[in-house]
Amino acid sequence: LEEQLRQSQKMEAIGTLAGGIAHDFNNILTVIAGYASLIQINGEESEAAAMAGEIVLSVERAAEMTRSLLAFSRKQEVHLDTVDLNLVVAELHKSLTRLISEEVELVVRVAGEELYCLVDRGQLEQVLINLAVNARDAMPRGGVLAISTGVAEPEGEGMPAGRCAVITVSDNGTGMETEVQERVFEPFFTTKDVGKGTGLGLSSSYGIIKKHNGTIRMQSEPGAGTSFSIYLPLSVERPAGERRDAEERPGAGS
Ligand code: ADP
Repeated sequence: LEEQLRQSQKMEAIGTLAGGIAHDFNNILTVIAGYASLIQINGEESEAAAMAGEIVLSVERAAEMTRSLLAFSRKQEVHLDTVDLNLVVAELHKSLTRLISEEVELVVRVAGEELYCLVDRGQLEQVLINLAVNARDAMPRGGVLAISTGVAEPEGEGMPAGRCAVITVSDNGTGMETEVQERVFEPFFTTKDVGKGTGLGLSSSYGIIKKHNGTIRMQSEPGAGTSFSIYLPLSVERPAGERRDAEERPGAGS
């Protein structure tokens, strides 16, 4: 418990710091990109124009990183809609198949009941993609990537109150040593080679789930595999379009 509290305070502090830096950094990047494009355009076929082109590309990569940082620090806008998480997972199936290698088997199992949650669908999909990419990377020689949904009533500090939807993403890959487990949610922490990992996947995922009043939990065993569970509060609202009792509001009793 103490450990979890310490961890969330640490993430809070890092998030505030990172968000501030990312915001200012973005403004600087815009200026760099602007001038580099000008040099590129005015320089026509010159060597300087080609170099300016390289600058533009690098700036785009840096901008991508700041976007991830902003997602982590909750400075990104959210567009909330009530969606059935089973649908989100099912519809992501195809994109995930393209992401993973042939040696990895993707097993998707969704709950029998609908799991309506108030979420930013795009951001939640981003989280699931981050987790799937990590699982894939942890199974270079193949394995099973399992994604399942269900309902749980989690207990403990920092867990959402009441009935929750759970999405679990697990792999039977390398797993992690304790020293790695303790740091996975820190921004820029990565064990991957340069160019392969930014160390922002899990930190931004953590930020996104927190922003949804949810929790993300990890279990890992070296040599056996890793499992991430995302807990999100269930909503009593129905998705727009199939809403009948529009007056029902979440959080009332139950
Ligand atoms: P990145 O993937 O860019 O390294 P992440 O924040 O997504 O950044 O992950 C941080 C680190 O956590 C990874 O470099 C890896 O060491 C570890 N990790 C994350 N997911 C898994 C997993 N499923 N199995 C083993 N290690 C993992």
